[in-house]
Amino acid sequence: MSSEFSTLRDLQRIAEEFWPAATAEGWDRVGLVSGAGDAPLRRVLLAVDAVAATVDEALELDADALLTHHPLLLRGVHSIAEDTSKGALLARLIRGGCALLAAHTNADQPEGGVSAVLAERLGLISAEAIVPAESPRAGEVFGVGRVGELAEAVSLREFAERVAGILPATIGGVRVAGDADRRVRRIALLGGAGDSLLDHPVVRGADVYLTSDLRHHPAQESLEQSLAAYGPALVDVAHWASESLWLDGAAERLSARLPGVEFTVSRRRTDPWSFAVGGSAN
Ligand SMILES: [Zn+2]
Repeated sequence: MSSEFSTLRDLQRIAEEFWPAATAEGWDRVGLVSGAGDAPLRRVLLAVDAVAATVDEALELDADALLTHHPLLLRGVHSIAEDTSKGALLARLIRGGCALLAAHTNADQPEGGVSAVLAERLGLISAEAIVPAESPRAGEVFGVGRVGELAEAVSLREFAERVAGILPATIGGVRVAGDADRRVRRIALLGGAGDSLLDHPVVRGADVYLTSDLRHHPAQESLEQSLAAYGPALVDVAHWASESLWLDGAAERLSARLPGVEFTVSRRRTDPWSFAVGGSAN
């Protein structure tokens, strides 16, 4: 394959190899959203979200494809009229000659995936999946979330600061539920929204559960349970931030396979929050 002749189909093929569509959740919608397979591929922008800010960036870059983690069209769509926000985004991408594709829950489970990268950046040792699944490749840690140990126990506050140190800054920062001085070592984590695993025995057995979008009732119930039996402190980070770490590694791996194509990772913050007031100082 000559790099001058890379096409969108080459990107699709390699994306499918890294993140097989069959490993996505049943409700998910991954893969190509718009674009022609034989279109030439010179520049690709990677981002967590397909929103106005990243579509602007893709068109400014003259990118031939925008690869996002979150699918733009997840639920049934009956119109892409341009007076709808999604229709307008798609029309701009199509007119600008920029394809759109998504690698979502199929990019969550493998090595190099969203949770694996978080675990790696936090230095977790012998990380395993919280919910292991069969990998399409032999000998790979594969499945939802990761659980592993820090090289040595640290205080919960120190751990939270470490988490803040590896994530891009967001308005919400890192929110913690638990005693700041508690010693923690065994860390369970799930990049993106992780309410669903709060009661999982592996999470219950960890010292910390790190995830995003924890809501009042599920978080409170988990903490109340921990009064009676062992349970994790909770560390809640911005959804966008937790998933953004995956992009750099994905760009690197794609670039190694398509050396003639330029891969750029978006640095635009698509966390929805602009500012916060009234928080307490500690
Ligand atoms: Zn997500």
